[in-house]
Amino acid sequence: MFWYDMGMEESILVIVKPDGMVKGLAGYVLTRFEATGLRMVAARMAKVTRELAVAHYYHLREKPFYEELIRFIMGEFDNNQDNVLAFAFIGENAVKKARAIAGATNPEEADYRTIRGSLGRVTTKGIFENVVHVSSDHIEGKREIKLWFWPEELTVELFPTKLAGNRKVWLEPGGPKTRTAPWPEEYK
Ligand code: UDP
Ligand code: MG
Repeated sequence: MFWYDMGMEESILVIVKPDGMVKGLAGYVLTRFEATGLRMVAARMAKVTRELAVAHYYHLREKPFYEELIRFIMGEFDNNQDNVLAFAFIGENAVKKARAIAGATNPEEADYRTIRGSLGRVTTKGIFENVVHVSSDHIEGKREIKLWFWPEELTVELFPTKLAGNRKVWLEPGGPKTRTAPWPEEYK
């Protein structure tokens, strides 16, 4: 039995995006998320390659802002700060709790007390620099955690794993419901 199968728990990925990193907001963002009482089960600095960006935002590939979004998450508009800080959190109603802290997608429409509402901005090109990513639902959360983390990087056995050579990998990188992206080579 894995955490995810127990019903009550949701798992989500939170990312301090490049605009949050250049503004020195990583600690502040973590403080806000810690206060939700959700359990942090993974954290890592990540260099956002185009491959990772494309897999992460695969579901938005047809949007008019897509190419700019890929360049934004890769840090191209923020001093080429090509690193972000990614977290996995689990807990009851994790999506709802975390998205309440993050605020609405458009920082100009987000409540001022939220992270995006107080610290985000819309660029003149219409890109939402909104400081944080939070999974939109628990299916997306599961997919994203598997995309961003190796099993060993989590402090709990969140999802089933298998051995590939002598490395532990996720048993199902996607599955019919969650497979919305091409996966990195090592998962194939
Ligand atoms: N985004 C944007 N313009 C839009 C909609 C979205 O720049 O009109 C960017 C923004 O950075 C957002 C990301 O695309 O966070 C993912 O969009 P989504 O609809 O999943 O919003 P989120 O789940 O991040 O609130
Ligand atoms: Mg989303």
